[in-house]
Amino acid sequence: MQSYDIVIVGGGMVGLTAALAICKQTPLKVAIIDNMPLNPIGDAPHLRVSAINDASKQLFTNLGVWDAITSVRSQAYTNMHVWDKDGFGHLDFDLSDLPNSANNDDCLGTIIENDVIRNALYQAVEQHDNITLIKQTLTSIGTGESEVFLSFSEHTPIIAKLVIGADGANSWVRKQLDMAMTFRDYDHHAVVASVDCSQGHQKTAWQVFLDTGPLAFLPLYQQNTCSIVWSLPPAEAMRVKALSAEDFNKEITAASDGKLGQVSLQSERVSFPLTMRIAREFVKDRVILIGDAAHTIHPLAGQGVNLGLVDASALAQTIVSTLNDGKELNDNKLLGHFSRWRKSDATEMIAAMESIKQGFSLQQVLPKFIRGIGMSVLNNISPLKQLLIKQAMGQTTNLPELSKVKDPLL
Ligand SMILES: Cc1cc2nc3c(=O)[nH]c(=O)nc-3n(C[C@H](O)[C@H](O)[C@H](O)COP(=O)(O)OP(=O)(O)OC[C@H]3O[C@@H](n4cnc5c(N)ncnc54)[C@H](O)[C@@H]3O)c2cc1C
Repeated sequence: MQSYDIVIVGGGMVGLTAALAICKQTPLKVAIIDNMPLNPIGDAPHLRVSAINDASKQLFTNLGVWDAITSVRSQAYTNMHVWDKDGFGHLDFDLSDLPNSANNDDCLGTIIENDVIRNALYQAVEQHDNITLIKQTLTSIGTGESEVFLSFSEHTPIIAKLVIGADGANSWVRKQLDMAMTFRDYDHHAVVASVDCSQGHQKTAWQVFLDTGPLAFLPLYQQNTCSIVWSLPPAEAMRVKALSAEDFNKEITAASDGKLGQVSLQSERVSFPLTMRIAREFVKDRVILIGDAAHTIHPLAGQGVNLGLVDASALAQTIVSTLNDGKELNDNKLLGHFSRWRKSDATEMIAAMESIKQGFSLQQVLPKFIRGIGMSVLNNISPLKQLLIKQAMGQTTNLPELSKVKDPLL
């Protein structure tokens, strides 16, 4: 039977990052289990992208993978334009809204295809002596007094002192361990696709709030190409997906008020049901949940993976403290602290998404002109804008060390 200090179930962006963060700071032996092959990076942009904030960028830099990621392709954005369809409210952010303009790279964030990130992390993991990749399907997991036992359909069983569940929204680990979860359907499906925009993206992340939900245009590495995330009630999402390309182009150009010029579809359209989920506890026995396995949020503020990457970094920091204090890896006090810390951040983020979504939803009671006044007032109050931008960039006080910007703005 093979034995590891830590086994990570799930080699997505969060699981791979957790492995690198742990092994950068400790001599622990780590295995990652995932049988999902890497998607090769072709010429066309992949449909799933993430807005990577400053804290995540700093984490990737500290792990030595940021240059490998951005050397493939990425797009930094310097502006954000958010507006209310058919109203006059809008919010604009640019570099001058950063306190002291102290951001390292003079950008508000970077749009990167998920597969570009996953490929770069995977390569770094493959080169690490203390990390083993197991491309097999798990069949069972059981927790004992001092170890966790994992078995496979075609691999000898393994044991570990700790198991990290980083296996995404429908976490197998979470279900096997009967870890209770609170969830609520957002009643939105996100339609994603790549589009060309005749006026170019202007290194700007655009988001319009329609009566049906938000529509975001995220700038990609080609100056005319954006990745869209269009959140709609399920029936509307099905309708928009089924439109002919010509009708889709007309509808999305009108929905975006022509601000990016004529919009034209360049890819298939894929949709994802959106559900808020949060595990009641992030730790049970010797098993810890991180990333989407622990929480999923509405993508309207592009924070899901950023939150998961902080989990990865925070867990590595917790493990380092445990070892420095000469304690067992499953020390209740330290893991309890980790669980409360990460649950509180995730709960805060879920509440923030809820307020934004409710604030713009059909059911909301304020008429458009009042919303417009609210947004315009906010747009003109510098400290409030700075607070919003700092939160979006992940520059909060309680970040783990590996995710901290070198030159914090606080
Ligand atoms: C439309 C949309 C847009 C988004 N945009 C943004 C954005 O702009 N910014 C942002 O920060 N976030 C965004 N998110 C959220 C972000 O995509 C997720 O938070 C992120 O992908 C979660 O990463 P993860 O590694 O936790 O999980 P996943 O990416 O789901 O990875 C889980 C991994 O576990 C593996 N796995 C699953 N089951 C098993 C098993 N039984 N055994 C072994 N391995 C297993 C899978 O193969 C996979 O590799 C968006 C989400 C959606 C739906």
